[in-house]
Amino acid sequence: MDLNDRQRELLKLVEERGPITGEELAKLMNLSRNTLRPDLTVLTMLGFLGARPKVGYFYRGRPPREDVESFMRSIPVSSRMSLPVVIDENSSVYDAIVEIFTENVGTIFITQDGFLSGCVSRKDLLRTAIGKLDLTQTPVSMVMTRMPNIVGIHPGQSMLEAAKLIDGHRIDALPVWEGQEGKYRVVGRITKTNITRFVLELGGNDESYFE
Ligand code: ADP
Repeated sequence: MDLNDRQRELLKLVEERGPITGEELAKLMNLSRNTLRPDLTVLTMLGFLGARPKVGYFYRGRPPREDVESFMRSIPVSSRMSLPVVIDENSSVYDAIVEIFTENVGTIFITQDGFLSGCVSRKDLLRTAIGKLDLTQTPVSMVMTRMPNIVGIHPGQSMLEAAKLIDGHRIDALPVWEGQEGKYRVVGRITKTNITRFVLELGGNDESYFE
């Protein structure tokens, strides 16, 4: 698996000087502790590095490939989600189309009194746009997919679960929601793009890891 330059440098330093603290690594690399944190997390989660409180990081060697799945299972959706784009049920289809373009997203979540009531995708809107309806007068609630048919995920669930839901339901995006029994507030969104970025980050952009 190909790591990025900084991750490779970190590995080398820890191999040579470990156990070593994040603070010491940051000083050696002339970077802030915050800048290094994501790379150290990736290396630790992937099993290249071990970490002991008060001792620091130590080298563990190359991890087996099946660790990709356990890594995906260990990362919560809340750490990789994007901001949701949400409009009220009473907004028009026209407003939803404008929102899709201005926010540059593929799926919009719809709420009633602040709670998730549905969602519309690009194709939902296209389908409506080629019909005979007056888009400025048609409420988006008329064309959306409704609760309880919306598939969503809680912030603490894993990226592996998100990927499985998106793939299994053949959809592009999931609302990340808080609440229960059909009363959900949307706090984020996870899309195919988030999953793709996550996989690239995992593999250091190296496909061979997945062979
Ligand atoms: P598109 O239709 O633009 O290709 P999707 O594949 O995401 O985008 O949507 C397919 C259908 O599934 C649409 O009718 C959409 O309303 C619905 N949909 C999208 N996201 C969800 C979701 N999270 N839960 C349930 N239905 C969804």
